[in-house]
Amino acid sequence: MKSYDYGECEICDTPMQERLIKQDFWIQGQLVIVSQIPAGVCPQCGEKIVRAEIGRKISDLLSDKERIIRAPQISVPELQLDLDEMTA
Ligand SMILES: [Zn+2]
Repeated sequence: MKSYDYGECEICDTPMQERLIKQDFWIQGQLVIVSQIPAGVCPQCGEKIVRAEIGRKISDLLSDKERIIRAPQISVPELQLDLDEMTA
């Protein structure tokens, strides 16, 4: 796949670098992670941009319920924020 010129970071003007990233999405109350997403990542501040074409592919993928059902499942830690501890 040929690399794409993401230009400079909108926040700090550093040239963006192409990386494969993971992103999480909530789809109907379910956490879904998409990996291997080509994105421009700012090495300075961490800002990420995904081009429109890739964004469309991601939304196609996320609308494919069969694929979500067949995908490998991972478990994630769920923490409860305990506000009582703050006053203790
Ligand atoms: Zn930046």
